[in-house]
Amino acid sequence: MVNYPKPILPVNPILSWASFGNDRVKTIPSVLEAGAHRFLTSGRISIAMALKLMGIGAGNKVLVPAYYCTSMVNPVRWAGADYVLYRLHPDASVDLDDLKRKLDSKARVLLITHYFGFPQQSRLLRDFCDSHQLLLLEDCGHAFFGQQGGLPLGSYGDYAIASVMKFFPVFDGGCLISSRYPLDQIRLETAGAVFELKAIMDSLERAFAYRPSSLARFFLKLPLHLKRQLWSYIKARSQGGIPVTSYTPLASEGGIDFDAAWLNKAMSLCSRWVMKGASQKRIIEHRRSNFLRLLDALGTLPHCRPLHTDLPDTVVPYVFPLWVEKPEFIFPELKRKRVPILRWDFLADWIDPTICPVSADWALKLLQFPCHQELRPEELEWMITQIRETLLQQ
Ligand SMILES: *Cc1c(COP(=O)(O)O)cnc(C)c1O
Repeated sequence: MVNYPKPILPVNPILSWASFGNDRVKTIPSVLEAGAHRFLTSGRISIAMALKLMGIGAGNKVLVPAYYCTSMVNPVRWAGADYVLYRLHPDASVDLDDLKRKLDSKARVLLITHYFGFPQQSRLLRDFCDSHQLLLLEDCGHAFFGQQGGLPLGSYGDYAIASVMKFFPVFDGGCLISSRYPLDQIRLETAGAVFELKAIMDSLERAFAYRPSSLARFFLKLPLHLKRQLWSYIKARSQGGIPVTSYTPLASEGGIDFDAAWLNKAMSLCSRWVMKGASQKRIIEHRRSNFLRLLDALGTLPHCRPLHTDLPDTVVPYVFPLWVEKPEFIFPELKRKRVPILRWDFLADWIDPTICPVSADWALKLLQFPCHQELRPEELEWMITQIRETLLQQ
């Protein structure tokens, strides 16, 4: 594991009060419009809840795309089921022939992922599930907004899940959605005062850390001081007893770990409030325009290829995925320049090309750059300059 310097821009730039506004007029629906929904504390916990509602356990198999992040499979392991990896085509669509080869009497659920915000062929996959007695779990972790065939993403699955943290400036949050089954029977409880308080403090801290103004810093001094005091008090008390992390979900600390204790916990009040107040129109528009700027600036450079060469009207991207020919030079060089960048290279350790040639290739060569709504134009241009120079330099 190489320790690269921290990126100059936060990889997950967070809250700015600019996000707030009353404009509810937007052209692209969110997963919340797909059906019944409940707010939990993370996307992964929502996957676990979906598996529980589907009655998945020991002896069952869940079909999972080979290009995955660990937070997608940990809930399957927790449920006691096995996961089987299926192949993807180079355009990220599901390889149906491979899927058919993986089917057996134990296969119960097909999990599909709308990578980077771009939808899978949901109607086709829904029909595939219906004709093979499979349940469909739609992973909208990258696609909080989006529409396909006239329906919001999340409408096709028996259940769908989304990660609120990936699109809204919140500490915690995931969503379980179903267009087919009621969800009001799920009993959720608050995770407690410490958690609620941490969510508030965290929002404040991120808000002002990212866009500090002297006035904001002045107002933040007190709550931050209180937060540190409170936190050291909790830590001191928990030395012999409860570990600190059990007061807040691991999902909110940026890790991939799974903790089933959060299964019946509700998303924090603060995160609900932030989500309600956030301008969805602004999130949609800024993400789309940042993506288009990246596509325009990087789309024709040598030794690389954008995964998507256009942006359909109904897509709200999560990141800008760029395939590079020589990652062994580009990736460390961009890290050294402190460009914010993600890569699922943990897959490279064991996804061999015989499992899925595309996923093995992407693990090293597919770089994900942020198109987050809070990127300022000058930050975006700085990032583009670094990427261009590095690509032209090789
Ligand atoms: C992040 C992610 C999840 C899990 O969401 P968390 O809120 O981090 O638990 C699930 N699926 C995909 C595709 C993701 O990227």
